[in-house]
Amino acid sequence: MPAASSHRRGAAPSGRRPAADPWKVDLRELGRRAGSMRDWEKTVPAQAGWGIEMIGVPEGAHVELHLRLESVMEGVLVSGEVDVPVTGQCARCLEPIEDTVHLDVQELYAYEGSTTEATSEEDEVRRIDGDFLDLAPLVRDTVVLTLPLSPTCTPDCSGLCVDCGLRLDDLPADHTHEVLDPRWAGLADRFTPSKEN
Ligand SMILES: [Zn+2]
Ligand SMILES: [Zn+2]
Repeated sequence: MPAASSHRRGAAPSGRRPAADPWKVDLRELGRRAGSMRDWEKTVPAQAGWGIEMIGVPEGAHVELHLRLESVMEGVLVSGEVDVPVTGQCARCLEPIEDTVHLDVQELYAYEGSTTEATSEEDEVRRIDGDFLDLAPLVRDTVVLTLPLSPTCTPDCSGLCVDCGLRLDDLPADHTHEVLDPRWAGLADRFTPSKEN
């Protein structure tokens, strides 16, 4: 199965202006003065490619952002909670899984030219791009790191019966397949209630 390509851009095919991307925050509204604060409550569509092999976020799924943006000296601190719908398949019984992942996030986006930006490696810190802060990479990275490699439909899913392939949790607890040794087959017949004489 192909690995999820996390760099595909799935959002906002119409319009190239950054403001058209619902994941981008226009910081001109926040202001650079340290201490400026703004609540960011929004529902935005998930972009494509947020997932791993057996579980992921469906493109366009409604991601709920309950965030606070706070202007600090070096940039903008993003903190709060994000609810992300995920769908996938149980690694044990292959049943579909539908769930919502709840994420706590706290991340500093550094201003271009700030000390934090100047002293950090390229991939160590998130950056503010001009007047815009892109929330999508933060949510994508956080959710992808949270996803289990082997998701299960229930924490103790018993998987499939190795003999008949049915879901064990759907079968009676004593489900077994009596594999009769052919040498005993004749004996078994004698003990099977036969028709009345
Ligand atoms: Zn299962
Ligand atoms: Zn079975």
